[in-house]
Amino acid sequence: MTTRSANALAHRIRAAGFPVVKDLDTFDFAAVPSVPKHKVLKLARGAWVEQHTNCCLIGNAGTGKTHLAAALGLALCRLGRRVRFVTAASVVTQLEEAQQQHRVDRVLAQLDRVDLLIIDELGYLSFSRGGAELLFQVFADRYERRSVLVTSSLAFSEWGTVFQGDRMAAALLDRLTHRCDIFEMNGESYRFRESMTAKKDKDPKKGK
Ligand code: ADP
Ligand code: MG
Repeated sequence: MTTRSANALAHRIRAAGFPVVKDLDTFDFAAVPSVPKHKVLKLARGAWVEQHTNCCLIGNAGTGKTHLAAALGLALCRLGRRVRFVTAASVVTQLEEAQQQHRVDRVLAQLDRVDLLIIDELGYLSFSRGGAELLFQVFADRYERRSVLVTSSLAFSEWGTVFQGDRMAAALLDRLTHRCDIFEMNGESYRFRESMTAKKDKDPKKGK
């Protein structure tokens, strides 16, 4: 890699705003049998972002959703794509503030420029009506034009609770899941499992 392309990559990674640096090579696929490694490696090759399709990672806490989302985002940065990683709560707050300051179009235009928008933790907090509408607009704008990767601990049937009613949730899910790779990541928390293993190693009497 030339210095110039290394600089450009570093810039794309910074601009993406990943909360953690995670890569696919540190992801233990054996821990989540519902996520086939070959499918994830295919996503990491980026064709879906060229085809403007989506990806959803749905499952309980600690199952590696943020890890996988960040690792896929990093893979796309390496392919030269513009990526942005946000949490649902932070992007809604940002849009609401922008709306109050009459510059929401500018923020929407910034989001529109990225090839892959990663929205992490949808469903931890519910939004105001206005907030839900702004987020809906982001999804509607991107539909069939740009990719979205969403992680959520809520099953699709529960999205009405964050989107101020089932109608908006249904309209949003319709667009999001129309062409979408969906992975269910329900299982034991990886963090929890790791801490239990660490305990057993320390105290060999226990857990035998
Ligand atoms: P979630 O976003 O689903 O709550 P995270 O991605 O934050 O979970 O995972 C919690 C921690 O466990 C992170 O440090 C992550 O790197 C690690 N982790 C989770 N699943 C795996 C896995 N299958 N292989 C390797 N590390 C994992
Ligand atoms: Mg997470």
